[in-house]
Amino acid sequence: MKSPLYLLLLAATAAAALPAQAGPAHQHGVARLDVAVEANRVTLYLDTPLDNLLGFERAPRTDAERQQADAAVARLQDAERLFRIDGNAGCKLAKVTLTSAALSLPAPGAPAAKDDHADLEGRFEFNCTAGARAGFVEVGLFAAFPQLKRIELQLISPKGQMKATLVRPASRVALVR
Ligand SMILES: [Zn+2]
Repeated sequence: MKSPLYLLLLAATAAAALPAQAGPAHQHGVARLDVAVEANRVTLYLDTPLDNLLGFERAPRTDAERQQADAAVARLQDAERLFRIDGNAGCKLAKVTLTSAALSLPAPGAPAAKDDHADLEGRFEFNCTAGARAGFVEVGLFAAFPQLKRIELQLISPKGQMKATLVRPASRVALVR
């Protein structure tokens, strides 16, 4: 017979497997960030209303809006500055994948969202020599995007999973060790 503790651990494992969509959906000022720590890799998954990055949620229509969108994308692509992982983990940025229909990401010509709200999802992969030694990550999203007020975090490591909230102007996230 399975003990209650065993069942509890099973439940925790199932929760860890949930995608980022588990939190409140599309709230302006709020983004979701999942941080997955593995031995050789730290992966961050960002899910945010486009409004937090641009102040609007549709394809840019003017040159000024296009420049604004390009600047936001450039800030996200510069993930080594956006997410500073504890130097003890020896992480180097490997890949950034941004998805937003309204911004035609990842491919130009992708169909734009038709409803009144739009999101951007980002996946930021770092290769690490000692991921388990990552004690913290400095998250630069508040500095980069003034409209963003709160980040709902989910931290996932081989040792467990926990939730946390980062409120402006805080930037340091302690990782599960
Ligand atoms: Zn919206």
